[in-house]
Amino acid sequence: MSKIGVLALQGAVREHMRSLEECGVEAVAVKRKEELTDLDGLILPGGESTAMRRLIDKYDFMDALKAFAAEGKPMFGTCAGLILLAKELVGYDVSHIGVMDIKVERNSFGRQVDSFEADLTIKDVAESFPAVFIRAPHIVEAGENVEILSKHNGRIVAAREGQYLGCSFHPELIDNHRLTAYFVEMVKEAEAKQFV
Ligand code: GLN
Repeated sequence: MSKIGVLALQGAVREHMRSLEECGVEAVAVKRKEELTDLDGLILPGGESTAMRRLIDKYDFMDALKAFAAEGKPMFGTCAGLILLAKELVGYDVSHIGVMDIKVERNSFGRQVDSFEADLTIKDVAESFPAVFIRAPHIVEAGENVEILSKHNGRIVAAREGQYLGCSFHPELIDNHRLTAYFVEMVKEAEAKQFV
């Protein structure tokens, strides 16, 4: 059975674990970098990216996360997690893990609408997906190898680039586990490739 971790330094960890379990895989709350070694994939949850970055540095996670990515293992960033994956951030000189070829803007749906729900069409996932946005970022620019999976009001809110999946919203907060299931498939495909 695939074993998928959820970075458990801060944010919506439990909900992601429940969603993974609903998809029939083993979910692990990752609190120490050593725990990354035997995982097949990793979810970077929503929360607060600056707080998460501080904890990543405090617990010396950054090199281990970059090594995990370099091994070709699938990573799924949701909301703050999307910010952690992005190579470029609007208004900042530095990125965090910086592996996915996208430029992301934080808190980009305006302060007056802190959170909202929208019905999205997500390519290869769902015709109608009830997405919950909470102080959400969006993808401003995507590199040529990035596949855009969903847009809301003309803004990119879900995308995939090879082993990386990212979305602006919180798929773990609802009972529709199809986006998590899509990530689980990515993990299984990556595992199958290792044995060829
Ligand atoms: N606004 C948060 C950030 O910039 C992300 C919000 C979320 O993950 N729900 O990190």
